[in-house]
Amino acid sequence: MEFTKSKALFEEAKKFIPGGVNSPVRAFPSVNIDPPFIQRGKGSKIYDVDGNEYIDYVGSWGPLILGHAHPEVISALKDVMDLGTSYGAPTDLETRLSKLVCEAVPSVEMIRMVNSGTEATMSALRLARGYTKRDIIVKFEGNYHGHSDSLLIKAGSGALTFGVPNSPGIPQDIAKNTITAKYNDIEGITNIFDRFGKDIAGVIIEPISGNMGVVPATKEFMNHLRKITKEYGSLLIIDEVMTGFRVSFHCAQSLYNIDPDITTFGKIIGGGLPVGAYGGKREIMKHISPIGDIYQAGTLSGNPLAMTAGYITLKILKENPYIYEELEEKSKMLENGFVENTKKIGVKATFNRVGSMLCMFFTEKKVVDFSSAMTSNTSQFAIYFEEMLKQGIYLAPSQFEATFLSAVHTKEEIQKTIEANYHALKKVI
Ligand code: PLP
Repeated sequence: MEFTKSKALFEEAKKFIPGGVNSPVRAFPSVNIDPPFIQRGKGSKIYDVDGNEYIDYVGSWGPLILGHAHPEVISALKDVMDLGTSYGAPTDLETRLSKLVCEAVPSVEMIRMVNSGTEATMSALRLARGYTKRDIIVKFEGNYHGHSDSLLIKAGSGALTFGVPNSPGIPQDIAKNTITAKYNDIEGITNIFDRFGKDIAGVIIEPISGNMGVVPATKEFMNHLRKITKEYGSLLIIDEVMTGFRVSFHCAQSLYNIDPDITTFGKIIGGGLPVGAYGGKREIMKHISPIGDIYQAGTLSGNPLAMTAGYITLKILKENPYIYEELEEKSKMLENGFVENTKKIGVKATFNRVGSMLCMFFTEKKVVDFSSAMTSNTSQFAIYFEEMLKQGIYLAPSQFEATFLSAVHTKEEIQKTIEANYHALKKVI
């Protein structure tokens, strides 16, 4: 495979953009190779500037559940674009998408559109804090909710200590209001509530974490969170930026049968355009400006193009429920093929999958939280990743990201991926 043009473009980009990229993971920092520059995408495939073709399992990091350049999405976008790209004034497009989300997710009675997942979770925290008049937020180790100050916090040294910033530039004064707890640890979260419960505004969780590989919360853990937050008058915020409309049309909360106070969305609800949203009970949402006094705003929020791509995507998903059945079938086929290969070759691996979110961890440990995920052999992953890329399989360039399937991946492509996986694993050992 030739990467000459990509390499030249990367060098040029690095002169003007920090690291040559507008989001760090795109620079492939954990696999030590230069990223291909992408020219276009169609269906399940992307094509780079050197003419290489890849079966894409990143899907723009989750949004493209219908694949690249879906004809209905593109056609609707062209129609709307002809009318203008932004007005900063209300349109019916916003109500259409909001209504669709509210109908699909019963816990969401009202919703506010923003421009990214980061904005959604950041605004959800302000709402939780403003509503409860408390400051402390609890999050979980290995969960990612975007890069806002309150959420880019890792665990302190003791089990009950307050968080420490994950990045320079986050004031300790903000970090002190975030507690980072252990995922799937009922005793841990109970201890935190015993000690700080009456000051906790909300708990935010990825119900199926896709940011330490794929690690689902247990049903017991989710039930416990719902119970304990209610007991202490704290809000439960389920971050469905990644899982929303990915694992089910009714989102991850329907799989757990959990009724959260606030839900955050992003990715799929924007159909590949920049969108986020947060929604929840009317009683809580009515505190947001202009009907309430908790302020939040956005120049491009509810942008007509983004609303259109999201609406058409959700409408297609709603009208074609078989898509989720097929996604399950194809994802299972991919997982089974990978599992068989690891057994044949003798590679130690653990698989976690929920619907079309899959992760192969290079560890023999069961992966249930951040520390078990960290037992993965990332050097093996780096070799694996490069070998897959060379065979035209585009995976997320990190052990701790999800593999996403789309509605348009074919069984032939999955078979090809399983064969590529076999050859790549042989190189790993
Ligand atoms: N929440 C979750 C669960 C995510 O996976 C992400 C991004 O991957 C975010 C929030 C942040 O979204 P964005 O990158 O759109 O700001």
